[in-house]
Amino acid sequence: MFALQGKRYQEPKLVLFTDNAGSACGHAQAAMGPFYCPGDNKVYIDLGFYQQLKNNHNAPGDFAQAYAIAHEVGHHVQTLLGISGQVRRAQQNLSPSEANKLSVRLELQADCFAGLWAHHTDKAKQILEQGDVEEALHAASAIGDDRLQKQARGYASPESFTHGTSRQRVDWFKKGLIEGTLQSCNTFT
Ligand SMILES: [Zn+2]
Repeated sequence: MFALQGKRYQEPKLVLFTDNAGSACGHAQAAMGPFYCPGDNKVYIDLGFYQQLKNNHNAPGDFAQAYAIAHEVGHHVQTLLGISGQVRRAQQNLSPSEANKLSVRLELQADCFAGLWAHHTDKAKQILEQGDVEEALHAASAIGDDRLQKQARGYASPESFTHGTSRQRVDWFKKGLIEGTLQSCNTFT
């Protein structure tokens, strides 16, 4: 898709860790969850997070794990396309709650990009097995901010959402998966 736009795709590196790891974005600790560091173009996956997905959020399965990686690679793509930089610059002139809304849109776009990955990889390599999409949707739904906050403290407060609701995460992943185009992932309009 990059080539079609006359751009070159640079692959990110994947770092798997269990206890802690050093990154250009600071010290990565277990239980931090997966993240992408634009400073070194690496995706950091805390394997303890996968245990949590399975044990605490009832979202096991290889495709749930693949979805988490694809979401972080989505942030890498946003960095390469300049979207992350544009959002950071726009946020400097906004109130904290308006800035937070943009962060949520960025996160939902990463979910949509994860759907794009599933769409195109399945087309090229037939990777999707029975139940895979459900696994990813289940994981997306399990780690929505509303669900996580309700689990943690019994209620959800939308102004502090950083990733969107379960419903939004599922919807954007599905949109990328079904439509398969970059344009379908415009979460900013
Ligand atoms: Zn994210």
